[in-house]
Amino acid sequence: MNVALVHLVNEARRTGSIADLPEQHWIDGRSVPSVSGRRMETIDPGTGKAFASVAAGNALDVDLAIGAARTALSGPWSKIVPAERGRLLSRASALIRAHADHLAVAETLHAGKRLVEAQGDVGGAARAFEYYAGACDKFQGSSIPLGPDYISYTRHEPIGVVAQIVPWNYPISTLVRGLAPALAAGCVVVAKPADQTPLTALMLGKILAEAGLPPGVFNVVTGTGADVGAPLVAHPGIDHITFTGSVATGINVMQSAAPNVTRLALELGGKSPVVVLADADLDAAIDGVIGAIFENAGQICSAGSRLIVERQIHASFVSKLVERTRALRVGHGLRAVDMGPVNSPAQLARIGGFVERARARGVEVLCGGQSTADPETGLGWFYEPTILDGLAPNDEAVQCEIFGPVLCVQIADTVEHAISLANGTDYALAAGIYTRDLSNAHRIAASLDAGQVYINEFFAGGIETPFGGNRASGFGRAKGLEALMSFSKLKSVTARL
Ligand code: NAD
Repeated sequence: MNVALVHLVNEARRTGSIADLPEQHWIDGRSVPSVSGRRMETIDPGTGKAFASVAAGNALDVDLAIGAARTALSGPWSKIVPAERGRLLSRASALIRAHADHLAVAETLHAGKRLVEAQGDVGGAARAFEYYAGACDKFQGSSIPLGPDYISYTRHEPIGVVAQIVPWNYPISTLVRGLAPALAAGCVVVAKPADQTPLTALMLGKILAEAGLPPGVFNVVTGTGADVGAPLVAHPGIDHITFTGSVATGINVMQSAAPNVTRLALELGGKSPVVVLADADLDAAIDGVIGAIFENAGQICSAGSRLIVERQIHASFVSKLVERTRALRVGHGLRAVDMGPVNSPAQLARIGGFVERARARGVEVLCGGQSTADPETGLGWFYEPTILDGLAPNDEAVQCEIFGPVLCVQIADTVEHAISLANGTDYALAAGIYTRDLSNAHRIAASLDAGQVYINEFFAGGIETPFGGNRASGFGRAKGLEALMSFSKLKSVTARL
């Protein structure tokens, strides 16, 4: 840890907060209070205490932000050549790195994640700007062969004003993986961070202004889903919605978008399987399964929340897994721990409900299974790392997204059985495979219904690899060059010569 970061962490631990946190919406290149004057508290899940407050917006603030965005769409931003947009995104990347400590501690405080995870997310945000900076002047159309009497070509034109709705589990990374390609494609953005995690989006507003982004190109309105999210996605001034969140809210958003025929991409929940075959490198598989479910306390859309293990290794594999899981240290994200808190009391109650109902059905709880607190302070919203064993394919815990540190173990008799279990939920977001037989791994990968398949390393990949879901996990792809497509409308131009 560098000296500046040590100071910030000490300040946060001593006072419960840090200096220079944003407090207002970011609209038209400046901080503005909400029209109503209302504010809302931001709470540290690691202590359960409020440590900051921000503007609580409503439809009037949304109108202002969309007005600023629409003006910016046809202003200087539309005249900036792609190479210069790329240079601007590069400066944004460098500035995110320069402000990384402040961003990472703020991310830890509002999202509850471990500092090292928050640092990874901030580094990933800088990398996303860097990646799309390089794409700005390479996002080209094509020429279509119609013979000597015609000339025909395609143009990628910016879709326009993008509404971006962000969940609380990955505040900066989810925002940036939509924002950076949207800007690269020449769009303007109005973002609504989750109610619980407004800070890093607002901080990004200031950083992008410092990088030279014209006013109104990126706006942030903070507030609840009902007060800010709902009017934003129903607004006729929005041309595209990128929604990341739960299935229930995603369905609402789709309905709100329909009357205006607004385009949208939905990145929803998951119940992703990790298939461990008997021939796998079992040490690597144990590491992979632990990271897949306990990283960010299991609050990851693509968490590997189901372990599907071959029967012949089930007993030995699960016993090692339980040993490793029991050793995980739980506590506030600013301390040296292996797992942080869950994001809210509602989330804690929801996770506990799933485990209690499983217990009542006779499901074996191999470890964990209780809510707990930070061992140093006795505060915060924590749930023990938990493993439920031998679950039937139709069990509630297998079928529903728990969104917490609860691993559901299913036993497979054959590879075909493992594939059928893996594909046996409404979700189809991610899937993992552990085996030493790479030919088999690629055959299985082709049979799995998932937007991304990881072989021998769960979460492998980066901003370069497209990410998204199928079926109840949504549609559309973030990351990679595919993400640029979401933010452009393709035009073909054909002339008779
Ligand atoms: P949520 O659906 O409750 O909220 C997501 C966002 O939508 C928040 O900003 C919220 O304020 C806003 N919102 C709520 N009601 C709205 C409305 N009527 N109109 C518009 N916006 C509204 O989800 P959450 O609890 O914040 O996040 C957890 C969920 O997100 C999980 O299901 C998780 O799997 C999913 N998620 C998916 C991905 C992915 O990439 N697929 C990534 C992260 C999280």
